[in-house]
Formats: sequence, C-alpha cells, structure tokens
Amino acid sequence: MNKPILLSTPHIGDRELEFVKEAFETNWIAPVGPHVDAFEQEFCQLTGASHAVAVSSGTAALHLALRLVGVEPGDEVFCSTLTFIASANPITYLGAKPVFIDSDRTSWNMNPELLAEALKHRAKKGKLPKAVVLVHLYGQSADIDPILKACNQYNIPLIEDAAEALGATYQGRYLGTFGHIGIYSFNGNKIITTSGGGMLVCDDLELVNRANFLATQARDRAPHYQHSEIGYNYRLSNILAGIGRGQLCVLSERVAARRRNFEIYYHALKNLPGIEFMPEANYGRATRWLTCLTIDPEAFGANREQVRLALIEQQIESRPVWKPLHLQPIFAECECFGGAVAEDLFAYGLCLPSGSNLKREDLERVIVQIKAVHYKTQSVFTVTEKVYLTT
Ligand SMILES: *Cc1c(COP(=O)(O)O)cnc(C)c1O
Repeated sequence: MNKPILLSTPHIGDRELEFVKEAFETNWIAPVGPHVDAFEQEFCQLTGASHAVAVSSGTAALHLALRLVGVEPGDEVFCSTLTFIASANPITYLGAKPVFIDSDRTSWNMNPELLAEALKHRAKKGKLPKAVVLVHLYGQSADIDPILKACNQYNIPLIEDAAEALGATYQGRYLGTFGHIGIYSFNGNKIITTSGGGMLVCDDLELVNRANFLATQARDRAPHYQHSEIGYNYRLSNILAGIGRGQLCVLSERVAARRRNFEIYYHALKNLPGIEFMPEANYGRATRWLTCLTIDPEAFGANREQVRLALIEQQIESRPVWKPLHLQPIFAECECFGGAVAEDLFAYGLCLPSGSNLKREDLERVIVQIKAVHYKTQSVFTVTEKVYLTT
C-alpha cells in the first residue's frame, strides 16, 4: 500500500522544541510571555513591519483588523472572491456585508481595474466600503500599486490577507506590509505553523495598542475588571509563540522548498496538452504555498475532477482551487463585480500536494499519476509514452 501524500502538512524545524521547553521550564504557560514578545519582534525584523500582534488565528487577526478600521453593522467591505472563506467570515462577524471582486487572469488575484470600477460605482451611490480585503492567493502577490492607488483615491483602508503569503514579496518588499493592516496565518497547513495562530501587522502604534486591548477582552485600565467595549480572547499562547519562533528560523527554507516543488511539477507537466500553471507575476516573488494548475478537459482528455479522483485512488490528496465566495451558498445574496475569471479557475483549477516536507519521490508519484490519466485517454499509445509511464 502506498503511503498517503497530503496537500500541505506541518513541517517542524530543529529549534521549536527548545523554545517550548524553555516555556515549560520557566512556567510561562500563558497567553502572554517572553516568547510572544520575541515572536512579534522577530516577525517585524523579518518582514520589515513596524509592529506586530500575535493572535490565536489568522481569522482572529482579520476580525481585529476590520474592527480597527471601524467596520460596523450595515457597512460594506470589498473582498477578493477567489479565496478561502476565512477572508470574508470576519466581515459578517461585525454585521457588515462583503462585496466581492473578481480576479485577473495574470495573477489570479483581485483585478485592480474592477476594483477601481466598483469603487467608482459606490462613490456615485454615495456609499463607499469601509475597507478592502486584498488576498494574496496561494502565496502570490496581488498587483498592489494600482490597488493601493484606487483605495487611496477614496481614502479606504486596505487590509492585506497574507495568510498564504508569508515570505512572498512585491517589488522586493514583504507582503502584508503595504496595506493599512496586514494579517498572516500559522495554521497547520500554512507556510509556517504554530499549530494554530496568526499575526497582525501595522505601522500605526495606536491601532496596534488597540488590537492588543481588543484581543484581551477589552479590559479598561483599572485594578478591578472593568469593560467599556466588547473585546475578544484572541491572544496567542506563549507555548505556541515558542513554536513560531522556531518556525521563523526556517521560513526562507520553507518557501524555497515550496518553490522547488513548483519547479519540479512545472518541468514535468508543462508540455502536457491542456495543462497551464498559475503564472508568477513579474512584480513579485510568490511563496508557491500550493502549486496550482488548470486542466482544459478537451485538450488534456480528462477534467479536473477525474484527475483529482484518479489521484485519490493512489492515496494522493489534491484539491480544487478555492470555490469563489460569490458562489458560496452563504453569500448567495452578496454582490460581485465580475466573477467569470474566478469561476473558470474554480472549474478547471487543481492544487497539487505542496508541503515543504515532500520528498522528490513523492512529487514523482504525483507526476506519474497525472501523466497516466492523460495517456490513458489517448487512443494512440506511442512507445515512448509507454516508457514514460513506467519510469
Ligand atoms: C488560512 C487562511 C485564513 C485564516 O487563517 P486561520 O489561521 O486558519 O484562521 C485566512 N485567509 C486565507 C486566504 C487563508 O488561506
């Protein structure tokens, strides 16, 4: 029996246990402590962010970010449609409504022209959104300059959802540091993990202090427990921050390993008819969190689902590209500007196993199976193709 190959699993380095042990030995088993402070500091040094707040998840970080920029019930927030549900859920936590923006084909990320159009439309109606949530999908930078320009024109804060993009850059600078606020995730399947966790970064110290305040039940400065606002219990534990410090040490290796996965898949599969890989926009360097490709069923001979099911038979996990949020039952009533590009990418797109701990032979197994699906559908079986399947 073949061992399972999963999409993206945690990959622990050499130092995490050392930091965790230190937390135990000093009894810092709490949602605050020296590892939390150090993790935030080291995160800033690495990304170039001014201030960071470690929290319990990427979703929590986004919830805080939206609260910090003043999102309230009845507001609208613009959001990329091609993304994981967590990019939009926190909008609804605050009683606001997401309005979705389609992707462009070159980056798979928010189309800047559509955003500008949508903002213009809302400006005319006299109801601008309170924020724009910009996702850097699968670790690839969106085209930030025109997006920032559009937001600045109407004075709308940009929140970067860099959950999949820690370590990726736009024009040489780390993603998450361009917007008003940036957020990251350390969930088990992300580039680096604390098992569960997240980070919020921001240049504005006042907002950062407020994030810390809201993340610790919004406790007023008083010896007794007094509260004038609703807060949350969102701080990261000192133990998990210890894991995070260890993971930060190996971040660049993890990104390199995921980019190497992409290169191996790309060179092995790029010449198959009907296969196209997610492009890398020339303004940035992606993490290649997941290697994604699209399959044109007519040219390839099988569709995305057939390939996915054939891989499952071999104990290989792959996933369709995110189902666009404007197609989600829960957001059926929400407006979307455009939508056809994201719908196409969902219909034809597949994410391949992409963990930084995959071995070359794991990748080879995936490659051989994808080739097998294609060649099985070809009526004329040439000798060289047969040889290919067995090597
Ligand atoms: C994972 C993810 C999140 C949420 O992060 P959690 O830490 O799992 O809460 C948000 N946005 C995107 C794009 C993600 O991939």
